[in-house]
Amino acid sequence: MNNSDHWQFLIDFDQQHIWHPYSSSPNPIPPIGVKKTQGSLITLADNQEVVDGMSSWWAAIHGYNHPTVMQAMKDQIDQMPHIMFGGLTHEPAIELAKRLIKLTPAGLDKVFFADSGSVSMEVAIKIALQYWISKDRPVKNKMLSIRNGYHGDTFATMAVCDPVNGMHHLFNDVLRKSIFAPAPQMGFDIQSDNSDIEELEAILKDHHHEIAALTLEPIVQGAGGMRFYRPAYLQAVRELCTKYDVLMIADEIATGFGRTGKLFACEWAEITPDIMTIGKALTGGNLTMAAMLCTDEISNTICQGEPGVLMHGPTFMANPLACATAIASIDVLINSPWQDNIANIEQHLKTELSPLSELEGVKDVRVLGAIGVIELERNDLGPQIQAACLENGAWIRPFGKLIYTMPAFNIPAGELLQLTDAVKQAVKTVLEESL
Ligand SMILES: *Cc1c(COP(=O)(O)O)cnc(C)c1O
Repeated sequence: MNNSDHWQFLIDFDQQHIWHPYSSSPNPIPPIGVKKTQGSLITLADNQEVVDGMSSWWAAIHGYNHPTVMQAMKDQIDQMPHIMFGGLTHEPAIELAKRLIKLTPAGLDKVFFADSGSVSMEVAIKIALQYWISKDRPVKNKMLSIRNGYHGDTFATMAVCDPVNGMHHLFNDVLRKSIFAPAPQMGFDIQSDNSDIEELEAILKDHHHEIAALTLEPIVQGAGGMRFYRPAYLQAVRELCTKYDVLMIADEIATGFGRTGKLFACEWAEITPDIMTIGKALTGGNLTMAAMLCTDEISNTICQGEPGVLMHGPTFMANPLACATAIASIDVLINSPWQDNIANIEQHLKTELSPLSELEGVKDVRVLGAIGVIELERNDLGPQIQAACLENGAWIRPFGKLIYTMPAFNIPAGELLQLTDAVKQAVKTVLEESL
């Protein structure tokens, strides 16, 4: 069988039997086969090499197959790929926890390892609820979230996603009711009238007695609209949570590990949340792993309450292979000139993508750190733009009106230019054809 027939066979099977993210089966647009990866390059089924503009959804921050991370994974496989975490512990978990405690905002000193971002958010919500039960204030059991938020696909997290555009409105009737504040005003460096903060405070004033915690994504709201907002808002949220005795959960699953230009987006506002979740880039995009961190105060309260334990424990908790991978990825990041790399990407994205805002059909172009977003007026052009981009040699995955890219921090300059040229050309061509 030749290569093309072989892949047609595979894709046919995939179409008949396998779910993809947010997909039907079969998919109206079949998935594209991938053979291998190296650095920022993806080799597709037809042997075309394309530049990766997505970092596999924020995760592959060093590109693919980074030699140092690969070696650490191989060494750990030989030593101990997995061991249960109930009653046992191991160096990879301890070494990873050390790094996370050191690198995250001061005061987050307890770590819970989970398998995916959604599960780490489930644990964050659970720990917040259990905190108030332990304090004998069980009426504080509602979540306050802000609109345009995205926190995952499981049941507790669906309930704190944006109730309209959060992909889960189908389930609104069976989800626990959360309270929603308006989204923060858009813009990282805007002068604001702070009306969004006032509206948030009004809600807290009325409802704080029944609110366990506020959840938000610091500085960048990801899947809920790729919206950037100002550090002053985040600072105000921290102050209001303290004032109204509501726990603050910062979801850094997308923003963590440098993506916005700070190691964690909370640093833009110099705040420590009570609870923080991380995932996506934690292992450099090599294995699924996430974590929840919280303060000693929260963990002490729970451990002194009834039943005195945190009621959660995934089977593959703190998987040694995932921990070793995360340690290697974090060390590669910290030992690299990541601030300079991200500043260079930011400058490049601004220079190359900003002129697109002049085009008819483009609503906004925005760049922060190693994230570039082109927001269109129409929400139906994504598939065409993706296809055109691929022809031009780059892989992106548009979402509704949003054409966006977040390349690996170490993407070579030539490949970064290939990526932005491909995106620019694809957006221009498809918009012209659509007029
Ligand atoms: C991706 C994401 C999640 C969910 O993580 P999964 O690993 O997909 O479960 C939660 N919150 C934010 C902000 C995310 O970007």
